Amino acid sequence: MSCRSSALVDILEETDTSRLRGGIESDLSLSCVIHIILKLVLTYISRKDMTRKFKKDHLKETKTASMTENTGKNKYKNVFPYDETRVILDLQPGKAGSDYINASFINFSLLFLGVPSVTVICDGGWSKRSHKHSYNALGGVGVIIGAETKKNLHLGVRNKYCYICNRASNLKVDAKEHECFKNWDKSSQAMEADIIVEGFLKANEHGVRYMHLIGDGDSSVYAQIMQNVPVWGKYVKKIECSNHVCKCVCALILRNLLMKTQSTKAREN
Ligand SMILES: [Zn+2]
Repeated sequence: MSCRSSALVDILEETDTSRLRGGIESDLSLSCVIHIILKLVLTYISRKDMTRKFKKDHLKETKTASMTENTGKNKYKNVFPYDETRVILDLQPGKAGSDYINASFINFSLLFLGVPSVTVICDGGWSKRSHKHSYNALGGVGVIIGAETKKNLHLGVRNKYCYICNRASNLKVDAKEHECFKNWDKSSQAMEADIIVEGFLKANEHGVRYMHLIGDGDSSVYAQIMQNVPVWGKYVKKIECSNHVCKCVCALILRNLLMKTQSTKAREN
């Protein structure tokens, strides 16, 4: 859950590095901080614009899927095959739309070892706020979401505590038969990586592989995937989440500014 060095270094290298590093380490003036924050915000907005432009330029038509005779064949209201890549069935005379099915041919470049490859967004969270101070939450959750479809592909929960088991333990008796949700006895920090790896191992259930992963700067999840997902895990590519990078850099700048302000006040007193 923490944004660490790799993401930060990428942004620093795109930014005015000498001013930022110099500012943090020695003479961090307010105007320098404002300049850097503005530059980060502008970089973020520019990336968003590029994404929007890319989608606009590459938006393909889906007119056939929207025709009256075909709308009933679409399982979802917002998932249509592109006209240029849709699967075309043999047209039956007198039956309008008989050549339509909600299916597309997949470009070979989107396959990995013959299995469709998709980009996913992964993140986790704990049952209590613990970022940068205490990593001892009793429960954690992790999710994998398809970057294109925005649909949930995997959801996992890890619990270190069960009320019934705990009560029985305190009373030194056997716990009565119950549905126990305790499924974790390792560290709270390891919950996220375990859930995400579990989801990657189940990718075949969806008939796909998650070859591109968008996530925060926590490298342990990525390392666990490369280590524990057989055959294709070591080929997964990590994409840094821009939201986490901005959050991390801004927090670093503000923390250093606060420290400098406090030390200046201390000297004045
Ligand atoms: Zn239990």
